[in-house]
Amino acid sequence: MSVARKILIVDDEEDIVNLTEKFLQLENYETLTCSSGSEALQIVEEKHEDIALVLLDIMMPNLNGYEVLKSIKSNEKFNHILVVLFTVKNFFKDIKKGKELGADGYLVKAISGNEIVNYIENLLKKKKKETN
Ligand SMILES: [Mg+2]
Repeated sequence: MSVARKILIVDDEEDIVNLTEKFLQLENYETLTCSSGSEALQIVEEKHEDIALVLLDIMMPNLNGYEVLKSIKSNEKFNHILVVLFTVKNFFKDIKKGKELGADGYLVKAISGNEIVNYIENLLKKKKKETN
């Protein structure tokens, strides 16, 4: 079985999806993208075996990032997938709420593309060490 390496980027802002996807692809990551929580859950359902990590916006209309996170982490089929909340909300209470719902990490949107890639790379390496 091949190692899951795809990153699913979920954000209702198209520019953020495009930029993040570009940075990750430059570092040879395979990416999947969508712009809503419901699409994200559908993709996870269909492709969970290929997805290593979900980079998840919190503030989205209808189904927000917390709800998507909860659905992923409460399902045995998918809860191995790393979920990193990706948001402009960087208040302590939001970080705490994310952690409580099972988020594996937290990235604030003001950071650079290199920082995003490095953060994801480190998290995946850490997870690999844990599972080996
Ligand atoms: Mg948003």
